[in-house]
Amino acid sequence: MTRAFNFNAGPAAIPLEVLKQAQEQFVDYKGAGMSIMEMSHRSALYEQVNNESQALLRELFNIPSNYHVLFLQGGASTQFAMLPLNLLRPGSPGAYVMTGAWADKALKEAKLVGDTVVAASTEADKFMRMPTMAEIEVPENAAYLHLTSNETIGGTQFKEFPNTGNVPLIADMSSDILSRPIDVSQFGVIYAGAQKNLGPSGVTVVIIRDDLVKESPKTIPTMFRYDTHVKSSSLYNTPPSFSVYMVSLVLQWIKDRGGVAQLEQYNHDKTKLIYDAIDGSSGFYIGCAQPQSRSNMNITFRIHSEELEKKFIKESELEGFVGLKGHRDVGGLRASTYNAVPLESCQALTQFMIDFQKRNG
Ligand SMILES: *Cc1c(COP(=O)(O)O)cnc(C)c1O
Repeated sequence: MTRAFNFNAGPAAIPLEVLKQAQEQFVDYKGAGMSIMEMSHRSALYEQVNNESQALLRELFNIPSNYHVLFLQGGASTQFAMLPLNLLRPGSPGAYVMTGAWADKALKEAKLVGDTVVAASTEADKFMRMPTMAEIEVPENAAYLHLTSNETIGGTQFKEFPNTGNVPLIADMSSDILSRPIDVSQFGVIYAGAQKNLGPSGVTVVIIRDDLVKESPKTIPTMFRYDTHVKSSSLYNTPPSFSVYMVSLVLQWIKDRGGVAQLEQYNHDKTKLIYDAIDGSSGFYIGCAQPQSRSNMNITFRIHSEELEKKFIKESELEGFVGLKGHRDVGGLRASTYNAVPLESCQALTQFMIDFQKRNG
């Protein structure tokens, strides 16, 4: 079997070791005579999976005890709405940092729910950078400040986070959660769809500070309330059990590799290869994001002609590379180098880039 050099943006690469372990346990999970998908989510075996995933995430991400860890459905996109539904109040707007496609979607949903304000925007720079901390203006009466820690489409990433005082800081970390250590206590809520850095699609992780759970308006439907899922430990209704199980395997894989700080170094080594290939190409490849905002998860770049970009994608596919086409909204090229993408894939891509330039430069 040859595994593809998988640079997909999401769903994305899952560690081969994890896939093999899931394969081993697929038909008969821990001697139950059935797969994890076939058993009750109220069974002791599944409860163990649910608890272990929570505990592992707490340990790896150093989550303080006054935070809850939830496994929800509906993707990060549902959080765009669930968050303002639960946290917005009349006279207290949701403040949004506008950094690209995902931030925009989050803002648009909040506008359907209540008042919003833009706390900073890098639109004038075509979203090719993140704002500096000084550029972010948090209104004192804001219900929260929302930002997107990594813009998956633009390829930009926050390297530090603003101090928002009493205003809760909320982050959509869908495309960089667990790629680097973070001080969780800086945040009120962190959420992330699993399908980029945590496992398969179908489950969304929400990390929420206890005080933010308590005062959701009475009128919100049950499934959209954070307190519903906190009270039931994410077992209010049938959970996406196979996805949660896969996340638990990925988390154990991260732990076995030494944890998140270790992964950060590994991710740095991986992306440096590719950014160096861009910067060392004498302008043949052009990095999209401004250097200080470059993402360690999604590397966006271009070639001076669209013809050559098409050729790059076509030839890369013939050599086993997958997912190097930029998002349809922005074009160009993109290599997503999430936690599970091995260094070897990045080495192979770097070599391919150098060879492609030699043939076409
Ligand atoms: C992929 C992505 C989303 C959307 O996630 P879904 O789970 O598909 O709803 C939201 N935000 C960011 C930053 C993403 O990368």
